[in-house]
Formats: sequence, structure tokens, C-alpha cells
Amino acid sequence: MTKDHESALQHLALILDSLLENKPLPAESIDYAYPPEWTPLVDSCQRLQNAIDEFNAYVLALSQGNIDVEAPPRKNYLASSLKHFQAQLQHLTWQAECITQGNYNQKLDFMGTFSEVFNTMALQLEFREKQLISQQDSMKRVFDKLDPIFIVETHAGTNNAETILYANQLAQERFHLQEQTHLMEYSATLPQDIAQLPRDGTPMEFPDAENTYWYRITSSYFPWTTHHENTLLFQCVDITTQKRHAAKLEQAANTDELTKVLNRRAFEFSATHLWEACLNTSKPFSVLMFDLDYFKRCNDTYGHQFGDLCLKTFADILKKVFSRSSDIVARYGGEEFVVALPFTPGDMAILLGEKVRERLQETPIPDPCDNSLDVHLTVSIGVTSPIPEPHYPLNTLIARADQALYKAKEDGRNRVVFLEMETG
Ligand code: GH3
Ligand code: MG
Ligand code: MG
Repeated sequence: MTKDHESALQHLALILDSLLENKPLPAESIDYAYPPEWTPLVDSCQRLQNAIDEFNAYVLALSQGNIDVEAPPRKNYLASSLKHFQAQLQHLTWQAECITQGNYNQKLDFMGTFSEVFNTMALQLEFREKQLISQQDSMKRVFDKLDPIFIVETHAGTNNAETILYANQLAQERFHLQEQTHLMEYSATLPQDIAQLPRDGTPMEFPDAENTYWYRITSSYFPWTTHHENTLLFQCVDITTQKRHAAKLEQAANTDELTKVLNRRAFEFSATHLWEACLNTSKPFSVLMFDLDYFKRCNDTYGHQFGDLCLKTFADILKKVFSRSSDIVARYGGEEFVVALPFTPGDMAILLGEKVRERLQETPIPDPCDNSLDVHLTVSIGVTSPIPEPHYPLNTLIARADQALYKAKEDGRNRVVFLEMETG
């Protein structure tokens, strides 16, 4: 071996060392001129160096998480296993993406314990999603059993543009609400004043648009989902039954059970309002007091039940004669009745009183003891008809009509007596 060959071998050893230990070549070795017959060997070392550099860059990129890095060319056999691993990682990425889209049917088998954890994670996710859906279904079924509930998202600055995020079954059925539409589209089916409802949970009572149902409605801020901060919950409690009962009770409390006209308490309440209306407009307000004549005798002769029938017959006559919506007909007590006629002058009240008197006299009431006989009753009537003054409250009008009635009795019964209000 010549000296040149020895020197060339030493430089080759330096090249191999620098490759193995990944350290830079000494400067004298970079510019070293090999004998020509060594060129193939030096080229091989150069290719090896390129292959190792490519491989190193590839490994570095992968180790930094760049799994889409371009792989070294095919001829670089050093990277072939790693390229396979990269392809597996890319497949894993695709599988993870499938899971994010709800396709949990992904199995991993090339990464040992990680595969196990990944596969368990996919199963758990699928299980929990099923659980959540089932819980959501249960909650929905519960919500659908409740009175109407709906949730809207308010949009700051845009008046009334509230989007319906959720409406339970009854809210959909009763108000025709649909999710993801604007609340303002339902003015024809929602209770009218719902927009004025305070948002602090104070309840208000509204009938629905068709007056079929009544609701006690509250509206309050309610965090529906994490990304909705301005969500309002509307809870509508169906109070239709209570309202109907209350109306029936009120009617019963105001009505005389036997004759179905107003009772004295309801008369005083309604008549006071109309008396005030006449006071404010300086219109006459007439009061008529009626007392059946010799009614005790009628009861004693024909029995209490027949007496009741007479009272009902008389009340029916009153209802027919005083049929204006503002006329107030009431049973004042026993066989006494009272009628208030707002906006009605005395001559008209006397005329109507006469009409009642004549009708009763002409109305045959069958004798309960003898079907072939009819009983005829008469009534005495006292009337007054002032233009109301603050110093003539309703009770003074009633008292004056009562005095007129007393006079009608004194004068022989079965008549109408009119008395002006006393002055001073
Ligand atoms: P007058 O002509 O002076 O009014 O004589 P009257 O008999 O009608 O007067 P009185 O006050 O002496 O009698 C009223 C009667 O009305 C006595 C009472 O038994 C009867 N009465 C009161 N309420 C009812 C009722 O609900 N049903 C029946 N059947 N009778 C009643
Ligand atoms: Mg009486
Ligand atoms: Mg009487």
C-alpha cells in the first residue's frame, strides 16, 4: 500500500466517523483529493451521507409532530419502516376524525397499549353519547308532559327579534311555535300582551289569542346552553280550570240561587258604578223597589214551594222587561226586588214599572191544589229617579224608592208610586 492509499483510507475513516457520530468533517478532509480509482467509494460515502441526512430531517419533522411531512424518496431504504409508521399515523388521524363525526366504529391495532386506550376511548365515547341521547329523550318526554314552556334568545339592539331555541310539545301545539323562528311571528297565536311581560319572573295572567285557555306566565333569564347568555325561559302554567271555577264561584256569589237574578250585594256593587257614571254625566238614575202583595197569605194558602214558583215567575217578568245590558235586576230580600236603570228618566221608569205590574197581574200561575184554577199575584212598586248628586248616594235613592213603595202599599197596593228625592 502506498502512502497515498494510506492517507485516502484515513480520510475515508474520518468520513465514516463523522457519519456515525454525526459530527462535522475536519476541514482538511473536505478538500482532500482522492486518487481517481477511489472515486466510486467516495461517491458511495456521499450517497450514504445524503440518505442519512434525509432520514434525520424526516425523523426530526415527525418527532416535532409534522406527520404530513413529505417522506424521503423510495430509494432511501433507511426511511422505509418509518414511512410505513407515518402512513399508520395518518390513518390514525383519519380514524380520530371519523370519531369526531360520530362514527365510533374505529379499531386500532398497531400501537400496542395506545391502541387499547384508543379503542376503549372510542367505545366509551360511543356509550356516553348513547347515554346522553337517551337522557335527552327522557328529559324531552318529561318536558312534553309539562304546561307550555319555551326558550328564546334575545338579540341586543334588535327589538323583538327573539329566536325560539326550544318549545316543548304543548307550546308547539297551543301556540304553534316552531324552533329557530322568530317569536314575533306568533302574535296571532300567543297571548297578546306577552311581549310586555317583565323579565324578572313576576307572573302575569293572560288568556290565549282565542280566549280558550288562561295562563299564568313568567319570563326570566335562564342559561340554556353555555354559548347563549341572553336566553329567556317562558313558563306558562295553564290556569284555565281555576279561572273557570273562580268565574263560577263569583257568579254563584253574585246570583240569587232561586230566581237567578243578582243578589243584594252584587246589586250594590254594580249599581254604585253606574250611579257614578250618571253622576259624572249628569244623567238620571232610576231606582224601582218591588214588593209582592199579600205574599205571606199566598205562602200560607198554597205552600212555600208554590211561593218559590211565584218568585221565579216574577223574576222572569223583571228580566224580560228590563233587558238592556245596563239594567240591573236583583232580589233585594224575601219577596222584594230592586231594579236600577242608569241613564233613564222618571217617566220611563214609571212606564216600565207599570208594565211589570200589568204583566204580573195578567200572568196566571197554576194553582197547585186545583189544576183548573190559576192564581194571579199583584205587586206594589216605588220609584225615584234623580240626577245623581254627591249628597244622594245610592243608599239614599234606595231608601227613597222604599218610601215610595211603602206609600204604594198604603194607597191600596198593586200600583206604582213615584217620589222625587227630598231636597235639603
Ligand atoms: P204586603 O202586601 O204588605 O207586602 O204583605 P206580605 O204578606 O207580602 O208581606 P210580609 O212581609 O208580611 O210577608 C212576606 C212573606 O214572604 C213572608 C215570607 O214567608 C215570604 N218569603 C220570603 N222569602 C221567601 C222565599 O224565598 N220563598 C217563599 N216561598 N216565601 C218567601
Ligand atoms: Mg216585604
Ligand atoms: Mg209583600
